[in-house]
Amino acid sequence: MPQRIGIFGGTFDPPHVAHLVVAEQVKEQLGLDEIWFMVAHHPWQKQGSRVISSAEDRFGLTALAIGDAEGFVVTRHELDRGGDSYTIDTLEQLAAASDDEFWVVIGGDSADGLQTWHRAEDLRSLARFAVVNRPGHEGELPAGWDGAVVEIPALDVSSTDLRSMVADGRSIRFLTPDAVVQRVGELGLYRPTS
Ligand code: ATP
Repeated sequence: MPQRIGIFGGTFDPPHVAHLVVAEQVKEQLGLDEIWFMVAHHPWQKQGSRVISSAEDRFGLTALAIGDAEGFVVTRHELDRGGDSYTIDTLEQLAAASDDEFWVVIGGDSADGLQTWHRAEDLRSLARFAVVNRPGHEGELPAGWDGAVVEIPALDVSSTDLRSMVADGRSIRFLTPDAVVQRVGELGLYRPTS
């Protein structure tokens, strides 16, 4: 039987508590079978703005973040494909390989820029979006795009915040699962010298 899958793409540098809440709320409210955390290989929208941790490190952190949470899966599709990570390529690849129903899960900040995504018109006709609110951004589907709005408890947390806290020597405990806190320390990520 076809499954209903949420594709939750991100840089996850590092994953944090809001990512997990988004995944859980979308899964529950839309009655999806699974949420696939789709770790970007090259997050083209973020290139040039800062140093991005290696895809393998971000994949490992994401696996630790989700642990054994039921219905949460971390996937290597974009890592294995390599190059720039475009959602349309991922969806076409997934659609060709199965009858599953795919939803693209995004925060309101990402939804605002959908028209600028690679092959936006193809994406618009192929994909269905689950848009969640994020502080400063309503959960809103741009006109003409198909999908659903999912309201979540607003969490004003970003990976940027966590990176700068680590850089300042501050604790990120409880902003991300303990296993992620520990691995960030072991890898020496986000320190001023790394
Ligand atoms: P950065 O601060 O490095 O830009 P980020 O915290 O936005 O990172 P990403 O990995 O870029 O995290 O986000 C992946 C997805 O999760 C995006 O669709 C983004 O909108 C969503 N998201 C991230 N943080 C939140 C949040 N606090 N509330 C709702 N959605 C979020």
